Amino acid sequence: MSGKHIIVIGGGVIGASITWHFAKAGANVTVFCGERGGVATPNSFAWINANWGNPEPYFRLRIAAMAGWRRLSQAATGVNPQWCGSICYDLPPEGLEKFATEQESWGYGIERINREEILSLEPAIKNAPDWALKIAEEGMIEPRPVALALLADAEKLGASIHAGTEISSLALRDGRVIGVMTTDGVMEADEIVLAAGAETANLAATAGVTVPMSASPGLIIDTRPAPRMLNHIVVAPEMEMRQAPDGRIIASTSFNGTEPGVDPNATARRVFDDMCSRLVDGDRLELEGYRIGYRPIPEDGFSIVGRAKGVEGLYIAVTHSGITLAPAIGEFAAKEVLEGGSEPRLAPYRLSRFG
Ligand SMILES: Cc1cc2nc3c(=O)[nH]c(=O)nc-3n(C[C@H](O)[C@H](O)[C@H](O)COP(=O)(O)OP(=O)(O)OC[C@H]3O[C@@H](n4cnc5c(N)ncnc54)[C@H](O)[C@@H]3O)c2cc1C
Repeated sequence: MSGKHIIVIGGGVIGASITWHFAKAGANVTVFCGERGGVATPNSFAWINANWGNPEPYFRLRIAAMAGWRRLSQAATGVNPQWCGSICYDLPPEGLEKFATEQESWGYGIERINREEILSLEPAIKNAPDWALKIAEEGMIEPRPVALALLADAEKLGASIHAGTEISSLALRDGRVIGVMTTDGVMEADEIVLAAGAETANLAATAGVTVPMSASPGLIIDTRPAPRMLNHIVVAPEMEMRQAPDGRIIASTSFNGTEPGVDPNATARRVFDDMCSRLVDGDRLELEGYRIGYRPIPEDGFSIVGRAKGVEGLYIAVTHSGITLAPAIGEFAAKEVLEGGSEPRLAPYRLSRFG
């Protein structure tokens, strides 16, 4: 065990996973977060996958993270991913076949199913395609509850969590980040881990570190809880839907969420109407509301995880697909900070790649 005192900024799924892994390793960890449970995290579609046309190293990182969710569900209280699998037919047949061939060659568990099989698995789908891909090893999670569960578990392991506390800047001394500026003054630590989602770039800039990223909005809709209609994550052309354990159907036109446009109410209604038109008994569904999340997205779309260049004492973890990636980023980041060394699966995802 390391005797280091570490401060984590961020209580979304990434900060929560990192904190849990620090606490589990016996480290002295203090968390500061504005929102306990995150900002992007509660507004996520929350599909756990290695899908989606990724290059192989990113696919491998996502696979490690999927295994991480299985491990975390054993090791932490209240972490309950649903391994419901997905049924995907969002690409034209040639595109779907090309995607399937590539991912199969990397070992992904892809099965081609015909129309009859699709309907036996998902009887509520109207206009089912001739064939689709079934990916049994994918899942979903309720993102805010899981972030809260990881933080609560970390607290039991000794982590100290200050929610509702905004950090205004990082504190520097002699070219080293030595702490964070709170309303009560500077709190010092041996290392600072910045996992502040869309705010990461602004906070890093206070230490002179540039994190090239943007945050773009994505809208998802929720129905009122309904009797079970969907058994898998269904990924259709311009429509992704899943039914949460409480019966809500969550949908958007892409797994990144739908562009809200100038009238988010109208956009939500359009997504809802489109979704209902694709489901048997869809006309019985009722729209509960919509949520808009700002996705923290590094400039090239891939994660940024590792030590900041040019300044000591600062480790950065920001990513899109953070619901999928949280267990791997948490495990690898905690190990690198506590033990040194360099996790090879993170090598393509260092801040230094931006030059
Ligand atoms: C619409 C949508 C759909 C998505 N779908 C998926 C999906 O299907 N699968 C998937 O894997 N990913 C998906 N994502 C992405 C995923 O949700 C994010 O990558 C993930 O939630 C990021 O988590 P985070 O902890 O980095 O950030 P956040 O959840 O935003 O948490 C940031 C934390 O930092 C804190 N913070 C920020 N600034 C400060 C400050 N100055 N002082 C103190 N605390 C601060 C906040 O209060 C918060 O606690 C989706 C995102 C959106 C918006």
